[in-house]
Amino acid sequence: MLSIVPLGCYGSDLENKKCISMLVTPTTVIDTGSIMSSLDTNQLLAIKHVIITHCHFDHIKNLPIFADFMLSLGNHSFTVYTTENIMAQIMDNIFNDLVWPDFTKLPTRKNPTIKFQPIKFDEPFSIEGIEFLPIEVNHVVESLGFIIKKDGETIAYSGDTGICQNFVDHINNDPSIKTICWETSFPNRLEKLATASKHLTPSQLAGELEKINRHCEIHTFHLKPNLEDEIIADIKSIKSPMKIIPMKQKRPITVS
Ligand SMILES: [Zn+2]
Ligand SMILES: [Zn+2]
Repeated sequence: MLSIVPLGCYGSDLENKKCISMLVTPTTVIDTGSIMSSLDTNQLLAIKHVIITHCHFDHIKNLPIFADFMLSLGNHSFTVYTTENIMAQIMDNIFNDLVWPDFTKLPTRKNPTIKFQPIKFDEPFSIEGIEFLPIEVNHVVESLGFIIKKDGETIAYSGDTGICQNFVDHINNDPSIKTICWETSFPNRLEKLATASKHLTPSQLAGELEKINRHCEIHTFHLKPNLEDEIIADIKSIKSPMKIIPMKQKRPITVS
């Protein structure tokens, strides 16, 4: 069964509302915004596959600390799956031997803590029987969304995106998609900020839903935690035949 557990599902950190990390299996996580504060030592050691949607801080926040943890607990390695561009952005700005060591050559170049597996838009890859189709979404930096499939079940995951015809087209072209995780970062009142930063408000999400050619269940995420009540009130005012559910940390997303 396909199931995504949101460890953190917010577009920032506040109290117990944590940055983005989605556990797809015990070994595989999308983004590393909050893995260190959400998993215990054994659960962290089980992680072997880290998929990174883009270089923004709320998505890579725990990646440097996780690499350090894996090395210091006995040379455990893990693989980072992302595009060449996104990996270069992270290496140049974080693992640059200044802000943090280069864990792609520690403890040795031959046997590093971080292994990099480049992925490309529209070229599917598999991890332990789960297929991920990376799709380009509309954000201020190069960003990935995914169509995720296992045993005939499918979940579409938007990543960080503004209004995005490519994401809509992928959903409309794949009738197996009935469950969608769709970012909704800002309240309607801050539409200018949402548009400038290439995120969505509930009313912009409603416009996207009108383009979808079937009824789906929508799980909204990446809400700004300090604005959550206002965003949820705006989400509740969306007039759509689709069921729209604000995502909750630790509550699994499954195909209904
Ligand atoms: Zn983000
Ligand atoms: Zn972002």
